[in-house]
Amino acid sequence: MAVTSSSMLLRNFAAAGRVVRATSRIFSTGELIRVLPHTRSLRFISSTRAAHNEEAAAKAAASVADTGAPTIFDKIIAKEIPSDIVYEDEHVLAFRDINPQAPVHVLLIPKLRDGLTMLSKAEPKHVEVLGQLLLASKIVAEKEGILEGYRVVINNGAEACQSVYHLHLHVLGGRQMKWPPG
Ligand code: 5GP
Repeated sequence: MAVTSSSMLLRNFAAAGRVVRATSRIFSTGELIRVLPHTRSLRFISSTRAAHNEEAAAKAAASVADTGAPTIFDKIIAKEIPSDIVYEDEHVLAFRDINPQAPVHVLLIPKLRDGLTMLSKAEPKHVEVLGQLLLASKIVAEKEGILEGYRVVINNGAEACQSVYHLHLHVLGGRQMKWPPG
């Protein structure tokens, strides 16, 4: 009988893009191939894991949501840490997300947070900057060549997977978006 390592088998399954239903089997090497009870794509499994990580990170971040503590975005605004800036004006800074979820994934933030840790903190005094952010998102979409189709997202709070408590718009595009979102 040909000796097949479990890692080889899993690599083959990964190459095929899906996991086949398998029963437990001990090979002559003593290796045990684990039972994979459902036919699920590996992409699904890894995206589920990533989603759980995002949820965990968002829950951890929520504990500082109302403290007004500085965030990583303050350092980006102060240019203390590098970022790939795609647009900037007096009020708004737009830079590429470090963990892009689409070919174009740009974050837009108000340079002055002014209590806008999250959208649900918006007050009438923020109307102007909220408008500036939306207008800037269109300018970014134009610069990035995705005006024909793009998505603007604001995650608000842990249940929406917000992980940085400085209001920000995600501008996503460059691929077909799905609906409903996850
Ligand atoms: P949220 O999950 O709060 O809606 O979005 C925060 C976003 O900030 C995430 O998509 C994350 O990848 C991005 N991000 C976190 N830290 C940094 C960083 O240091 N640089 C950049 N460019 N993006 C960051």
